[in-house]
Formats: sequence, C-alpha cells, structure tokens
Amino acid sequence: MERTLVIIKPDGVQRGLIGPLVTRLERRGLRIVALKMMHIGEALARQHYAVHEGKPFYEPLVEYISSGPVVLMVIEGDGVVHMVRQTVGATDPAKAAPGTIRGDFGLSIGRNLIHASDAPETGKQEVALFFEDDELLSYQRDNDRWIFEQ
Ligand code: UDP
Ligand code: MG
Repeated sequence: MERTLVIIKPDGVQRGLIGPLVTRLERRGLRIVALKMMHIGEALARQHYAVHEGKPFYEPLVEYISSGPVVLMVIEGDGVVHMVRQTVGATDPAKAAPGTIRGDFGLSIGRNLIHASDAPETGKQEVALFFEDDELLSYQRDNDRWIFEQ
C-alpha cells in the first residue's frame, strides 16, 4: 500500500494551523495511519533533506525545519503521494494555486508550512526515517464506501 509522509512545519505549528491543515487532508477523505509531534534535530533534518545538500537554500532549510516542533503524519492509500502533493500545492506559496494549502496559507517559499513526499519510493524512505513499523496503524473506516466507489 502506498504511503506518504506529511510534515506540518514549524511555521504551521507556531501559527496555530495544525487543525486547519490536518482538516484539509482529512476532509478530502485521506486516511491518516500515524500522527505525532516532535522537534526534529539538526542531524535528522540534514538526513531528511539530504537530496538538497549543496543548494543555496539547504542551510536555511535545515534551520527552518529544526526551528521548533512539527507534526508528522503518515497517509496511506492508492495514489496518495500524488493526491497529497495536489492538496499541498506548488513549493512556492506565491505560485501555488488558490485552494491548495500553500496557496491559501502561505506567501514565501522559505515558510511554506507543509512537507509531502514527492514519489512512492520517497514516501517509503521518509516514513521509515521518522516512524517505527509498529507506529503505523492498520484499520478500516466505516465510511470508506462513501469515499471510494465499491
Ligand atoms: N525551499 C526553499 N527555497 C527554494 C526551494 C525550496 O526554501 O528555492 C525549501 C522549501 O521549504 C521546500 C523545501 O526547501 O518545501 C524542499 O524543496 P523541494 O524542492 O523538495 O520542495 P517540496 O517538495 O517541499 O515542494
Ligand atoms: Mg521535496
């Protein structure tokens, strides 16, 4: 089953937007199978964003993501990586479409509120970086037949 890692970044937590941002994902019908808060340390931040090492925004990015508590979530289901990226919107909130999280809540690329994995393989790696297997819950929802046909 496909999984994606979502992080409500420190600005989302500081701005009191945990509820509204989780709601955006939940109301679409997406199934959250793990959720926790933590303060990402520098070493873990560097590991999570290793793909961006050497880019001009890398150091500020590491500082940003480790600057305060975050909310981490795992969302599971067919095609969730793409669907969550759609709901999150373009990386730069100034360019993100209205109706997306970044387009509706943000203004600046260095304060874009939320992270979501960019491919199924990345999702797998990122979930493993932040969660133990036994933290991922397996459950059915009674209303799934009203969200998914059949
Ligand atoms: N970022 C930035 N400046 C840039 C590009 C990216 O500050 O020019 C930050 C931004 O917080 C972004 C993160 O680095 O979310 C990771 O960049 P990526 O290109 O992977 O964007 P994402 O996958 O988060 O949309
Ligand atoms: Mg990315």
